[in-house]
Amino acid sequence: MAKTDIGSLSLAELESYIQSIGESRFRAKQIYEWLCRGVDFDGMSNLSKALREKLAETCYSGIPEIERKLVSAVDGTVKYLFRFPDGECVESVVMYYKHGTTICISSQVGCRMGCRFCASTIGGKVRDLAPSEMLGQIVRAQRDIGERIDGIVMMGIGEPLDNYKNTVKFLKLVTSPDGLNIGARHISVSTSGVVEKIRELEKEDFQITLSISLHASNDERRSALMPVNRKWGIDELLSAVKHYFDATGRRVSIEYTLIAGQNDSEADAKELCALLRRYFSRSDALHVNLIPVNPVRESGFSQGDRRSIEHFQKILTDAGLTATIRRTLGPDINASCGQLRRGQTAKSAAQENP
Ligand code: SAH
Repeated sequence: MAKTDIGSLSLAELESYIQSIGESRFRAKQIYEWLCRGVDFDGMSNLSKALREKLAETCYSGIPEIERKLVSAVDGTVKYLFRFPDGECVESVVMYYKHGTTICISSQVGCRMGCRFCASTIGGKVRDLAPSEMLGQIVRAQRDIGERIDGIVMMGIGEPLDNYKNTVKFLKLVTSPDGLNIGARHISVSTSGVVEKIRELEKEDFQITLSISLHASNDERRSALMPVNRKWGIDELLSAVKHYFDATGRRVSIEYTLIAGQNDSEADAKELCALLRRYFSRSDALHVNLIPVNPVRESGFSQGDRRSIEHFQKILTDAGLTATIRRTLGPDINASCGQLRRGQTAKSAAQENP
């Protein structure tokens, strides 16, 4: 019998469930509080042993085990390899900023988008993560570091909008005052450009920040780097993004990974300015985030020198766009954008390579 994924329930839904298995309603609140603190069923010390055992047998919390933890000696960034009970692993990264602590979480085990510069997609997609497993990364990390996490970026492994239903449920749960109560304005959802889901997300009217992984200023180049562009080209993507901005009033973030010799020339910068201007006349609609490409063994791509990166930025700012260069965090532990991998336990590696 499949377990009931109670970590993916709202408090109200958990109350109905708990009553349906013959327990008193107030138990739901106790269980919910434990889950929010990253404590699994066996540690729920205000429940009877019998109830704890019953829950462990029949329910799923989504809280992962820490399989491995690395702390950057450079900036304190923490990278976790989390393992779920089925043996599948994902990575999450905790970053300390002046304005608070942010976690980068994964939305899928692996990824099927195939972006050529990204390590997360190398083995393809294995499975989606449940809302409980997205929350589980946060509560487990929070319990481990012993302090509250203030912000979330969905920029780890996976394409959040390719796991749309679970992503939306997760966003509702994590922002709920009953739950972790993290402000939507402190949450970013990054997408490689799943246009049909951007249109749906707009209707949810979340106050989150939408990040678009653009990475190229024309279709030919973008299709070569990102297969998703063959399904939805730049025009469809930016039209949907403009619509999203007009409907929500939320400034959109444009991610542009700078890869030496691929998309980082002066001509590329000018083409990017012209492209963005065609869709966005208001300069407060966008924030361009330039990410010097992080090395991934299999891709062979490299960064240009600092001067060429700054020159690229200057062309954008001279054209009236807001553009910043993303700081690299956790460089010594491969914790940067595009470097996260599914990771393996001895067990799953053995299953893959019999
Ligand atoms: N699937 C989502 C979220 C994951 S990646 C998306 O594509 O947006 C978060 C950001 O890191 C994306 O902008 C992604 O394109 C970028 N990225 C991927 N690999 C990278 C690399 N090697 N160096 C720098 N940025 C990278």
